[in-house]
Amino acid sequence: MTGSPRTLPTRLVLLGHPVSHSLSPVFQNAALHDAGIPLTYAALDVAPSALSAVFSDLTRTGAAGNVTIPHKCAAFELCDVTTPAAQQVCAINTFWAQDGLLHGDNTDVAGFDRAVRALFPSSWHSTHGACPARVTLLGAGGAARAVAAAISAWPATQLTLWNRSASHAEELSRSFAGTRVELDLTRAVGDADLVINATPIGLHNDDVPVALDALRRDAVLYDLVYRPGETPWIRAARARGHSAADGLGMLVEQGALAFERWFDRPPNREAMWRALNGAVSVEAGAERHAAP
Ligand code: NAP
Repeated sequence: MTGSPRTLPTRLVLLGHPVSHSLSPVFQNAALHDAGIPLTYAALDVAPSALSAVFSDLTRTGAAGNVTIPHKCAAFELCDVTTPAAQQVCAINTFWAQDGLLHGDNTDVAGFDRAVRALFPSSWHSTHGACPARVTLLGAGGAARAVAAAISAWPATQLTLWNRSASHAEELSRSFAGTRVELDLTRAVGDADLVINATPIGLHNDDVPVALDALRRDAVLYDLVYRPGETPWIRAARARGHSAADGLGMLVEQGALAFERWFDRPPNREAMWRALNGAVSVEAGAERHAAP
């Protein structure tokens, strides 16, 4: 990302508000331990008003880490150097200090891409030839923006946006040329090869973002939401025979890619998954595995 060799971080932190619920320390510390790196990844609750001062201090002391809600956009503005992915989303989730400058990346973009590809035939992984032709994205917030950025690199994919608030869908559509907005949910998903949930629906109750009988029988489903035992939408989709996954794969992949930014080497993803599977009580026999 820069010409000079990366200096190892002095400290690894996750900045959020609130942040105590995050699973990132669980799998990042497992990866650090596996790699023999003598650092601890610690969650740090930082109020928005304190973000700028905290970042100055972290840059000065050579720290690195992640940022999460509500800091992703504000942190982007505070970076000295940002990657094209971060610029596309206007938000970062990963940072590191180098030569006194604060660098920012958005690994949610590639993290989503890698996690969703695991649901499709291997021919797509190498050639891009089999990427889904019609994709519908539900939601228009920060996570949806990262998903739209990833999909904008898929050749020949028509992206349809649905959102509760029309103005937010239109705004997202303006950022990604060629996307279309469809506010009728049934029409939005009816012919989609891939339907992605980027709203929080299903996080705290058994609501589903869209009824399964509105979808094609062969539609693939990706839910950015994750929770113990998978989300109700994904559980029901599997029972109906769909290929489907929840957001745990994206969580691990964005974290693994962040690790690569900090240390210039990949983490042991199996170690990350082992730690996560220990922390998240999954249904018997439903242990999850690393995306390719
Ligand atoms: P956000 O910026 O607050 O956006 C939320 C989006 O969901 C908005 O489009 C909002 O619509 C919509 N929405 C909220 N409540 C809704 C409801 N009851 N019915 C219909 N639409 C609703 O949040 P975000 O950062 O994009 O995150 C969205 C979800 O993605 C989070 O809940 C999180 O679980 C998940 N996520 C997962 C990962 C991962 O690694 N797996 C990463 C990031 C986020 P309006 O525009 O109308 O408000």
